[in-house]
Amino acid sequence: MKLAALGEVMVEFAPQQGRGGAAPLFALSFAGDTYNTSIYIARNGIQVSYATLLGDDPYSERMLQAMGAEGLDTDAIERLPGRCPGLYTIQNSADGERQFTYWRGESPARELFLDERCRARLQDHLRQMDCLYLSGITLAIMAPEAREHLLTFLDSFRRDGGRVAFDSNYRPRLWASKEAAREAVGGFLQQSDIALLTLEDEQLLWGDRSAGKCLDRNARHHLEELVLKRGPEPVLLQYDGELTALDVPAVRDIVDTTGAGDAFNAGYLAARLKRVEPELAVAAGNRCAAQVIRHRGAIIPAADYLPEREM
Ligand code: ADP
Repeated sequence: MKLAALGEVMVEFAPQQGRGGAAPLFALSFAGDTYNTSIYIARNGIQVSYATLLGDDPYSERMLQAMGAEGLDTDAIERLPGRCPGLYTIQNSADGERQFTYWRGESPARELFLDERCRARLQDHLRQMDCLYLSGITLAIMAPEAREHLLTFLDSFRRDGGRVAFDSNYRPRLWASKEAAREAVGGFLQQSDIALLTLEDEQLLWGDRSAGKCLDRNARHHLEELVLKRGPEPVLLQYDGELTALDVPAVRDIVDTTGAGDAFNAGYLAARLKRVEPELAVAAGNRCAAQVIRHRGAIIPAADYLPEREM
C-alpha cells in the first residue's frame, strides 16, 4: 500500500526553552500539517510519497534530506529556481500561549497543480498510489484554478479505485473569505472517501452547534468513513451506517498539543492501509497522538517514537 500526501512544508523557528529575553535563540526544524502526518505514517511502516514544490535554496535542500532520513519518497517534488520555502516562527507570549507568525505568501508550494507540465508529471506519479491525503491547508494555499484541476484528477483517481483522505484543517487567515473556504472544502469532501475532521475547526467554518449537527451536515458528502476528533472527548466514527463514540485514553504529562490532529490522522490512515478495522484504527490514531502530545513540537524525534507495530 502506498500513500501520497500533498501540501506544504515550512521552515520552523521555535524558541529554545529557557532562552527568553531580549535575544531569544530559535531552533530550526521543518513542519506542515500534511508533512507531519506523512512522517508518522511512514514511521508506522507505510510507503509515503510527499508531493510539494520547493526552491533551490539551502533550506529546500535540507528539507529533502530530512524527508529522505524519514524514508519519504521525494520523487514527486518539483524545484523552482530562485525560490525558497515558507517560514514561521513560534513565540511564547507572557500568558503561556504560543503565537505563530508566518511568511509563506511566496512559498513555491502555492504552485501545486498549477503549471501544466508539472501537473502532468505529478498526476502520473499519483496514479501509482492507493491513497491520497490532503487538507484544507493544502487547498487554501493553492490557486483556485489549480484546485479545479486537482478535483478533476481526484474524480478519475477514485474511479480507478484509489481512495482520498481529507482533513478540513480550517485556518481562516489563509482564505479570502469563509464562503471561499466553505465552497472549496465542500467540493473536496465530495471527492473524499475518508474525512478526518476536528469539531473545533468544523464549528469555526460552518457554525455547527453540536457534534450531531456536524455529522448531519456532512451526510450529504456520502463519505465512506467520517472521523470526528474532539481533543480528549470521545472520537466519533461514522462507518457502514453506524455511529460509534470511541473513548480517548487519558494522557498524562501532556507537554504540547501541536500536531495532535496530524498525528491522529497518521495513526488512523496507516492502520486503515494495513486493512485494520476503522474502530481499531481510531485507537491507533489515539496512540499516535498520545505520543506526540507528550513531547514538544509537531514532529517528535524518531528515537522517541514507538511505531505502531511495536506497541
Ligand atoms: P487538532 O490537533 O486537530 O486540534 P484535537 O485537539 O481534536 O485535534 O486532537 C486530536 C487527537 O489528539 C484526539 O482525537 C486525541 O486522540 C488526541 N488528543 C488531543 N488532546 C488530547 C488530550 N487532552 N488528551 C488525550 N488525547 C488528546
